[in-house]
Amino acid sequence: MNCKKCDSICIKNGFQTNGKQRYLCKYCNHNQQEVYTYNAYKKNTNEKIVKLIVNSCGIRDISRILTISKTTVISKTLKIAKSLQWPAFYETDQIYEADELSIKMKGMKYCYVSYIINRKTKFVISFCVGRRTNENMKNSIYQVLCLNPNRIYTDSLPNYKGLIPKEIHRARKYQTNTIERFHLSLRTHLKRLSRKTICFSKSIEMLEAVVNIYFWAFNTNQLYKKGKISLTL
Ligand SMILES: [Zn+2]
Repeated sequence: MNCKKCDSICIKNGFQTNGKQRYLCKYCNHNQQEVYTYNAYKKNTNEKIVKLIVNSCGIRDISRILTISKTTVISKTLKIAKSLQWPAFYETDQIYEADELSIKMKGMKYCYVSYIINRKTKFVISFCVGRRTNENMKNSIYQVLCLNPNRIYTDSLPNYKGLIPKEIHRARKYQTNTIERFHLSLRTHLKRLSRKTICFSKSIEMLEAVVNIYFWAFNTNQLYKKGKISLTL
């Protein structure tokens, strides 16, 4: 039998408590069974979860489609979000747009996803989830300032005035159209962000994980279309 992780040869290594043969990979030291009864341990579960999340499936939908439990979907989602590696950006002298999107949380509380995209390439450079405070937003804006931007267009939120240098900051109407259109895609593709429904987020942690996965999938898909990388998780 071949390893499910690295595809090298496995040797027999005793039995599981349910009596099934256990195998040990000699290369990566990973114990495994040849056939699993529980769907969560099968190959490609993580890829499937990512694909379902970015195609407007909630936690319960994924749990029903893959026939695994809700808590497994939640823990796997958090784990995937932590392990993602974002592509590195090296572009300079570009034009960016920054905006924030309000989200209804449990108990009619509101939370914000603020993010910054490149107007030309449409890549999401950075994002932050939470209240709109300077403390929360400074990290994501700093990442863009590192790229030596030509100009950053925002709305008239006062926080941006303090965080972005005056020479490159513009707060004008109709100059954030690209990112406003991106909000629409986000609201359509992530179930918990859609408006006038009963879907909502319970915890900021989960919201951040799902938004992270969406932006990562969007960026890697863009790169994939340009033929720069192969699509792997
Ligand atoms: Zn292995």
